[in-house]
Amino acid sequence: MQPRSGAPLQGYNTLSLDARAEAFVEIDTDRDLLDALAWARDRQLPVVPLGEGSNVVLAGDLDALVLHMASRGIEVLERADDTVILRVAAGENWHQLVTWCLDAGFHGLENLALIPGTAGAAPIQNIGAYGVEFDSVFLRLHAVDMVDGSARVFDRKACAFGYRDSVFKGGLRDRLVITAVELQLSTRPVVDVRYPSLSDFFEMAGVAAPAPQDVYDAVVSIRSSRLPDPLLEPNAGSFFKNPVLTPDEMRKLAVTAQGITCYPQPDGTLKVPAAWLIERCGWKGHRRGGTGIHDRHALVLVNHGDNDGGKLLALAADVAASVRETYGVELEIEPRVYGA
Ligand code: FAD
Ligand code: NAP
Repeated sequence: MQPRSGAPLQGYNTLSLDARAEAFVEIDTDRDLLDALAWARDRQLPVVPLGEGSNVVLAGDLDALVLHMASRGIEVLERADDTVILRVAAGENWHQLVTWCLDAGFHGLENLALIPGTAGAAPIQNIGAYGVEFDSVFLRLHAVDMVDGSARVFDRKACAFGYRDSVFKGGLRDRLVITAVELQLSTRPVVDVRYPSLSDFFEMAGVAAPAPQDVYDAVVSIRSSRLPDPLLEPNAGSFFKNPVLTPDEMRKLAVTAQGITCYPQPDGTLKVPAAWLIERCGWKGHRRGGTGIHDRHALVLVNHGDNDGGKLLALAADVAASVRETYGVELEIEPRVYGA
């Protein structure tokens, strides 16, 4: 284990931002991880785990040891009548896992097809799309404490999953490296097509009872047509979370934001589409030098060539300020910002 110093990170984040790591090392095994944590501890260097860098903004150089989580392996731990339990190494590519499960006849992940990133990062923000969230298939995860190198196991309750949220973004932020996740999937074909763009897709296609393969294909097709490919237009997906409002806040917003849709949450709050607010403030397609807002998707900020995380954050701050001034709604950045 010999970390590289001053390593360029441009190829390790989907926004393709130019930044360097004080030190950088590939993590393939638990042994690599323990050695790397001890190395960083000896030098009192903070540690930053990185998967595929699809949910980070590198706003400057990182004075840290960056761990590139590259461990591989999908293992069937248990099979019962109609469920299966899998253990998946942190470095497995999420979409390849979804595809592998579908081919193996293990169901529940189809709506989460084509989300970039690694399996180990999925619990961090409880990834979600098309009406399904990661926690619906989650059983437990294995992690290592960055401070003392001890092994930890977290069940669903301990993860405190929420909307694009978990304990790993809150009280345990920067404390743990996730090494593997365990998922419980169905061996019976189950589908969830309640999400509007998915149900519309099947209605248009005249498919009354879609199979899991149909759902996977539909999600891949809808996503490919709507979302910019980071390889062609570097981005980090949705840059802002959808704001969640109290009924009182929603009533006030409805006065200024006439025609806005809102989605009631189980706890009585209401989620509103940030893209709608940003678009109405005139930002869709806006460019400032080599940094901009995508012209088809107002939630997606794009690096058109500046390669500068600071410029991206400055644009994001202006977008958030104009939404605040126009609608009184606070936008929260979804990706994790480093090096600012
Ligand atoms: P990274 O970006 O590398 O890391 C993200 C954070 O997790 C960092 O703070 C990092 O330190 C931490 N982390 C990563 N791995 C570990 C680990 N093993 N242990 C501890 N901490 C770790 N998200 C959704 O929820 N739904 C979507 O539909 C969706 N669509 C997207 C579409 C596009 C085009 C893009 C670019 C992004 C999209 N995202 C979406 C965001 C992103 O794909 C997810 O958040 C994904 O889980 C990030 O995985 P990653 O491996 O790239 O994590
Ligand atoms: P969309 O279908 O146009 O919907 C816009 C927004 O409205 C979404 O963010 C979604 O919230 C919300 N929404 C729509 N119908 C809903 C319902 N019935 N109940 C609750 N909320 C509803 O969104 P899109 O941009 O094309 O993305 C499609 C899916 O992929 C969404 O689930 C989105 O979250 C996910 N996605 C996420 C990222 C990311 O980086 N986080 C990037 C691309 C796509 P939700 O976001 O809660 O679903």
